[in-house]
Amino acid sequence: MDTRLLDFIVCPRDRSALRGSANQLICDQGHAYGIVDGVPVLLVEETEVPFTHNLARHALQSTRTDSPDLVPAPQDGEVDAFVSQWIAATNGSLYQHLVGKLQEYPIPNLRLPPGNGRLFLEVGCNWGRWCIAAARAGYRPIGIDPSLGGIRAARHVARQLGVDALFVVGDGRYLPLRDNTIDQAFSYSVLQHLSKENVRITLREIRRVVRPGGDSLIQMANKLGPRSIYNQLRHLVVGTQGFEVRYWLPGELLSAFRQELGPTKVEVDGFFSLNPQISDLRFLPRKYQAVVHASEALRKASRFLPPLRYAADSLYLRTKKTAH
Ligand SMILES: [Zn+2]
Repeated sequence: MDTRLLDFIVCPRDRSALRGSANQLICDQGHAYGIVDGVPVLLVEETEVPFTHNLARHALQSTRTDSPDLVPAPQDGEVDAFVSQWIAATNGSLYQHLVGKLQEYPIPNLRLPPGNGRLFLEVGCNWGRWCIAAARAGYRPIGIDPSLGGIRAARHVARQLGVDALFVVGDGRYLPLRDNTIDQAFSYSVLQHLSKENVRITLREIRRVVRPGGDSLIQMANKLGPRSIYNQLRHLVVGTQGFEVRYWLPGELLSAFRQELGPTKVEVDGFFSLNPQISDLRFLPRKYQAVVHASEALRKASRFLPPLRYAADSLYLRTKKTAH
């Protein structure tokens, strides 16, 4: 395990300090957490609180066996098999054609100012694309995700791309991090999948770990977006399956974020899809490139025509933590 993590992590149950050996971390109250392949698994048991994602169960099971079921690390020059397999799940349906065939990692551009060494937390980082984007923008990233496969992949990708970042397995509702330490919190295409109550719990945790004056940028799905309306109608007809997107009205988002996190502004992320990244155009078929171009044009227009944000599918909530 990267021992620099000990400067930041705490017990997710009671936030007391953790001390460690090669394969286990123990808190002052005696809670023990396994380390698998160098990754601390800082999760609360399912018997204490239901998981937000089944992958947490796999991570905890992996701490209890000598031969955990792990995707092998990639060789030099190879794309990580986990990322290739999960690319449509992490990046959205526009990337479906790349599943199992990924040749290169799509690293997005962050809509944030240069990091200048500031500490960046990504909640739900999976294979770490935004942490890598943050490191390239000058931040010091810490990525947290309940998926052990995702966190291992993030470490592999960061190493292959020559990026310095820290990653741990954890739950956004029980962030295993010290109070008032993070300069910039970030989350993309993650909180939109949680129940509204779990979103509020996660926002309170983000507020706890962000320092006074620190910032958050969190993506959510807008109930009024055209693609969102289509998806909601489809779900009425064919039902939902598992880790579905939860849709919020913009006013509902602002009210929850202001209550739980601090003064918040809403801005457009994109239209017609929940993950349009202009930086990824070369990865996409021509018909989807047209979608992303249209989305980007409307996003830029929304700066001059703010009501357009009510019709965006994907929104960013930008919050500053005020000192009490
Ligand atoms: Zn503890």
